[in-house]
Amino acid sequence: MICCAECFKDLEIKASIESLGHKGACPLCGAEEVWIYDSESDSDFGNSDFEELLISIIEIYKPEDELTDDFPDNAKKDIEEHIKNDWNIFNLDLCEIRIIIENIIATSKDLDEQILMQKVGIPNLYDETFLEQNSILGKYQWDDFRKYLRNENRFHTRYINLEILAEVLQDTVSVVPKGTKLYRARVAKDEKGYNFGEMGAPPADIASAGRANSKRVSCLYLAKFRLFTYSIYK
Ligand SMILES: [Zn+2]
Repeated sequence: MICCAECFKDLEIKASIESLGHKGACPLCGAEEVWIYDSESDSDFGNSDFEELLISIIEIYKPEDELTDDFPDNAKKDIEEHIKNDWNIFNLDLCEIRIIIENIIATSKDLDEQILMQKVGIPNLYDETFLEQNSILGKYQWDDFRKYLRNENRFHTRYINLEILAEVLQDTVSVVPKGTKLYRARVAKDEKGYNFGEMGAPPADIASAGRANSKRVSCLYLAKFRLFTYSIYK
């Protein structure tokens, strides 16, 4: 089976195919002279990074036989339909996605072929203990979190697993080098923008709400570039 970097949207998967180092034509998406994965040659020394990435997704799904009786019927689907809908990684239609999944299962020692023959689901999504330990929102849904934040307590939500959130936030930290020039950012009220005298901190009582602050809580927003952004917000 041959597929190529263009068959995928996901940058990490694209890079894993590119790192295999060969180009050619792709029979699945029709692209020519592109980075390709060829199962004939790329599986010779154990699973490649490309295969491992797809295995790590496919192994989350279990065949219907292994799902509990109370597993919701509408959450059981063919594996290719699940993966197409649950992960925004493919540039392909269902039948081509199935060809890739069939091949990955054939090259893997651990994946169960039954997931090609039966409907599949993700048992962990309905396992409260698993969710509490591994999901940012624990056993709750986004709507529960949103309502609590909006209607009950904006700053101290109990719907968040703070340990997991801290891990995720670690990956978003960006260090601004000492000496970097930053500008105070303010959304302009019209195309004229503000003059210099209007770019200081507003008195707390008249500070309007923003992404990081509530109304009347003054908060400094910074921008890297001196840009006029009225048209972006209009
Ligand atoms: Zn392709």
